[in-house]
Amino acid sequence: MTATAYDPIAFHDGLVAHGLIVPAGVQGIFGRGPVFEDILERFDRMVLDIGKSDGAQAMLFPPTIDRSIIEKTNYMESFPHLVGAVYSFFGKETESRKMAEQVKAGESWGDHLSMTHVCLNPAACYPVYPTFTGTVPAEGRLVTLVGWVFRHEPSIEPTRMQAFRIREYVRCGTPEQVVQWRDMWLQRGVQLLESLGLPARTDVASDPFFGKGGKMLATNQVDQQLKFEVLVPVISQEKPTAVCSFNFHQDKFGQAFDIRTPDGAVANTACLGFGLERVVMALLQTHGFDPGTWPESVCRKLWA
Ligand code: ZN
Repeated sequence: MTATAYDPIAFHDGLVAHGLIVPAGVQGIFGRGPVFEDILERFDRMVLDIGKSDGAQAMLFPPTIDRSIIEKTNYMESFPHLVGAVYSFFGKETESRKMAEQVKAGESWGDHLSMTHVCLNPAACYPVYPTFTGTVPAEGRLVTLVGWVFRHEPSIEPTRMQAFRIREYVRCGTPEQVVQWRDMWLQRGVQLLESLGLPARTDVASDPFFGKGGKMLATNQVDQQLKFEVLVPVISQEKPTAVCSFNFHQDKFGQAFDIRTPDGAVANTACLGFGLERVVMALLQTHGFDPGTWPESVCRKLWA
């Protein structure tokens, strides 16, 4: 029995009623209860186990990144509608008093703020690329991390969050190295989700590029098969939710951050990410809101 009949609002309300998520005032921002977090951590550990012998270097970054990463990767051309730039107050006391009055009066106060050097991180892998600058070893580089990601797309629909965590792997090297690695993980990802009783399937995908120019970028991405997703029905059976994505960037980040392979060529990169909250929601929708009633085979894998 699925938790709901694939109804986004009923699913949201069920998550809240079972203490799995805690509403926090704004759409797409909510707290996570202990059961939700337990499932999330167990799943994350399963992913790490699968990649254990690959020798990935572990990193951890805060949810804020150097603004110049956004600038160097053309983020503001491609995804201006999703950005979260951090603004703060740089003025003097008189202005601060005026601002405080406006805040109290419920008026708009954003005009008093100016840009800082940080943005909320829009993709877990972004802070990793500048650490590759220079010549990578012959076998390339492999990094893994969990990162909080921000996307400005408020929605009541629980799988569309403004802030969420991704378990990410980032590979850098020759085009052959990174594509071979991506294909290996695409298989691993589907097998992992299927082993947890999730009806997973893969599809070619595109990023949500902005505007008319963005349509062309998206078509190009699909034609060149640069992005794959693993999909599981969570809030709709017709439009299943992407729970992992696999991206081949070619030499985009190699160019932007001057990364080279030992033969002097611009390095290629690929990344893959498991949307941790989405995987938890896929499990909850598929097996029910109470993990105590989940199939034993699934529990044994997660809580082994
Ligand atoms: Zn990535």
